[in-house]
Amino acid sequence: MAIPPVITAIRVLEMIASDGGLLFDAAVHAFKNAPAAPAASIGRNGLRGRIEAFATWASALTRRLGHDQEAVPDDPYGAIGLARFRRTLAWHITRRPGGLVELAIQYGNMRTAMSAGYASRGRDGIHELLDIETARATADTLTALHDDLAHWVGISRPAARRAIHTAPQAPTFTGSIRTHRQAFNILGNPALTVYDNSRPLLMCVYNRDRALCHRLDAPRLDRCRPSCANIARTDHHTAGLLAQAEALEKQSGSQSLPGPLAERLARRARQLCELADRHEHDRIHYQEPHTTEQ
Ligand code: SF4
Repeated sequence: MAIPPVITAIRVLEMIASDGGLLFDAAVHAFKNAPAAPAASIGRNGLRGRIEAFATWASALTRRLGHDQEAVPDDPYGAIGLARFRRTLAWHITRRPGGLVELAIQYGNMRTAMSAGYASRGRDGIHELLDIETARATADTLTALHDDLAHWVGISRPAARRAIHTAPQAPTFTGSIRTHRQAFNILGNPALTVYDNSRPLLMCVYNRDRALCHRLDAPRLDRCRPSCANIARTDHHTAGLLAQAEALEKQSGSQSLPGPLAERLARRARQLCELADRHEHDRIHYQEPHTTEQ
C-alpha cells in the first residue's frame, strides 16, 4: 500500500522513464554532460546535482509567484547533499501532522520489522534515519505531555494514569537521541512508547497486550480503535474535537448539501461533542487521585 503523494510521484517517474526502463534510470535523469552507464540507476553525484537543481528551481518558482518567504534559504553549510536531504525528509515524515500514520503505512511496522530480525540484516540510509526521527518525535510527545501535565492540563481515558506515570521520564532523554542504537532502545522500551495520533485526536500509550489494532511490537496508528485501553486524551485533543465538531456542524447547515450527507455530518459532530463531554467528565490532573485507569 502506498500513500497518494508516493503514487503520484511514481506515476510521474513512469511517464519520464523509457519503456521498460528503471524509474531512476541514469540515462534519463543524469545531467546531459555526465556520462551514464547503460541500464544503471542515477548515482550519488547525479542525485546530489538533482537535489540542488530542484532547490534552485523551487526558489525561482516561489519568487516568480511572489512567495519569496517560501524560497529555499541560502545555506551556511553549503550544498544540501544527499545525507542532509534524507535527514530532512525523515524529519518531515515523522513530524508532519499524521506523519507517524503515514510512516506506518508507507514503511510498514518499523519496530516490528526490527524485532523480527531486520535489524540483523542491517538497516541503513533512510530506514535508520526514520527510526531516529520516530524516536525523537516520541521523545517530543512525552516532553510536551510532561509540560502539559505540569501546567494543570487534564487527561482522561483508560491509559490516562499510565501516561501520567510515563511523562516524568521525558527530561531524561530529551535531546539525547543521536544514534540508531539509542533510537532502537527507546522505541523498544514499552515504558516510553507514547505516540500522538492527530487524526482521531488522542494519544496512544502503547501496551502490546492491550492493543486492539495490533499485537506485535508497535501500534498501527492508522488502524486505531476507539475502544482501545491504550487511549489517553488531553484537554488539547478535546479542544481539537470541539473545533472539528463546530466545523462539521457549520457544513451540515449548508443548503447546498444533500440531506443524507448533511445528516451524516451532523451526526459526526454530535459524536465528537459526546467524546468531548466524556473527557470533561472523566479528566484527571497530575496530582489528583487517579480514577479513570482500568
Ligand atoms: S488501537 Fe490502541 S494500540 Fe492501536 S493505535 Fe489505537 S490506542 Fe494505540
